[in-house]
Amino acid sequence: MNRKYRKTVIAGNWKMNMLTSEVKAYADTLRASSGKVRHCEIAICAPFVMLPRLIKSFRDCRIAVGAQNVSDKDAGAYTGEVSAAQLRDLGIKYVIVGHSERRAYYGETDEIVSAKVRAALAAGLIPIVCVGETLEQRERGVTEEHISMQVKLALGGVPAEKMRRVIIAYEPIWAIGTGRTATASEANEVCSRIRAVIRSLYGARIARAVTIQYGGSMNASNAAELLSMPDVDGGLIGGASLDPEHFAAIIEAANQ
Ligand code: PEP
Repeated sequence: MNRKYRKTVIAGNWKMNMLTSEVKAYADTLRASSGKVRHCEIAICAPFVMLPRLIKSFRDCRIAVGAQNVSDKDAGAYTGEVSAAQLRDLGIKYVIVGHSERRAYYGETDEIVSAKVRAALAAGLIPIVCVGETLEQRERGVTEEHISMQVKLALGGVPAEKMRRVIIAYEPIWAIGTGRTATASEANEVCSRIRAVIRSLYGARIARAVTIQYGGSMNASNAAELLSMPDVDGGLIGGASLDPEHFAAIIEAANQ
């Protein structure tokens, strides 16, 4: 983390878990377990149907609500889609874009990811743009090239003035939901590479200000070490965010 130049953001990704009827109890426990949040921003990214209940439950505290997906289209005949403007209208602040599960299971290409990033920014949402390599890519030594390409393609058409509102999440696919975490230095190396790509596209001032999260089996035991790295500015947390006490412990690590 480097709080002098950028925000630390801890975001939970509930994926397709939890029920609307469980939100209130979760929110009550999270509030009771987390101390005063001073040094970081917190968000919970939940399935669409739970968003109104989450907004209500976290109305009077500093926990923001995010979605896990957004349409690349503005409005119209796109059955089943949810637009960025509809999310913003509800009071949503963040949206996860290009998660590896959406890329792998729902055919999201770099082109679609880029269109979603632009749609989110146009509506005033903060996109959390996910990039990450497979185990095979890591073993073949092409992690840097792959991540650089994903970042460049996702940011295509994003003007410099909007770039400060973009968060990048480095999520090695081999670490997601596997219990296998990148070491702190592996995570920092790739996050620092991502910052170098942003520097080459937008210059040093903007690169210095962009929040770059790590995601992939981050939990209460490894969060402090990962977050102590200079280029790791927060976490995108799946499994460990489902338990409010575990999530609160990660928030506490970021709050130090
Ligand atoms: C994720 O899906 O974004 C994620 C990081 O999941 P987990 O923490 O469970 O590995």
